[in-house]
Amino acid sequence: SAKGDGKARSQQFHAQMDIDYHYRQRLKSDLRDAVRENALTLAFQPLLDLKTRKVVTCEALARWSHPELGMIPPSTFIPLAEEMGLISDITAWVLQRATLQCTQWPDNVCVAVNISARDFRVSNLNQLVDGALASSGLAPSRLEIEVTETAVIEEREIAQRLLTGFFKRGIAIALDDFGTGYSSLSYLNTLPLTKLKIDRSFVSDIAHNARSLRLLANVARLGRDLDLTVVAEGVETEEQLNTMLEHTDVQQVQGYYFSRPVAESEIGALIGSLNGNVQPIASTRRRG
Ligand code: C2E
Ligand code: MG
Ligand code: MG
Ligand code: MG
Repeated sequence: SAKGDGKARSQQFHAQMDIDYHYRQRLKSDLRDAVRENALTLAFQPLLDLKTRKVVTCEALARWSHPELGMIPPSTFIPLAEEMGLISDITAWVLQRATLQCTQWPDNVCVAVNISARDFRVSNLNQLVDGALASSGLAPSRLEIEVTETAVIEEREIAQRLLTGFFKRGIAIALDDFGTGYSSLSYLNTLPLTKLKIDRSFVSDIAHNARSLRLLANVARLGRDLDLTVVAEGVETEEQLNTMLEHTDVQQVQGYYFSRPVAESEIGALIGSLNGNVQPIASTRRRG
């Protein structure tokens, strides 16, 4: 009967909720251990300049490989870390590690670090950023902070104050996942931004859908009119790349077409090969 079905569904639903609850509790406790034991790792994904095709920035992306459950995506563990008050530990670690790694790259390659909403409230972000720059010796102009619309809206006042401070010190500020949040354009115009990262949902369709392409082109134009560097996320195919080159003002691109995020141990070589410096020693000799 319909009633019986409903009851079965409800039991199933509650059983699922139990599993979800226990799974989350386990993840939380294991995440606490992982952070304490320094078991998170970093992946890096390059952003390339569309004209020169050279790597301009590498974005640091946190990774958690659980000993039994395998890779847990950041979309799962970052919100847990926020709930648990662990996010500042993670942010501090990412900042330290990413800035240090960047000192190993060519001088014209920057590093980008993601900051979450909760960081504005609970972390002493100023101190974390200062500490990372001081201990790595990285120039502030080589650091980019990525924030989402949602994060800056949730923490309007603190975000405004902190970002203005970073901006004044020459740190780049990127608005991440642009177009997916609910912020008003007039509010965004009050933020000290240097870069707009257009969300990958604006890119996926452009090679086959004229309206999608016009939308991306106009969002990119908007960013350029506000004097921001415009980045497109999620470029996966050559078709998307060519369409973008021909019809939009997008300046930088990031996506699987160029490279997936790679392990820390591989990023140096990846920058070298993408920038065509596979044999740096030979080219030094030729010059000298
Ligand atoms: P995000 O900052 O927008 O990072 C880009 C995400 O898009 C990454 O996912 C990357 O692997 C993925 N991506 C890049 N190119 C492509 C593509 O061509 N196609 C598709 N389908 N995806 C692509 P990931 O590493 O899973 O990270 C997801 C989100 O988790 C990030 O989105 C960021 O919001 C957050 N996150 C990652 N690491 C950190 C961190 O250290 N701190 C904080 N607060 N958030 C982080
Ligand atoms: Mg990002
Ligand atoms: Mg993004
Ligand atoms: Mg995104």
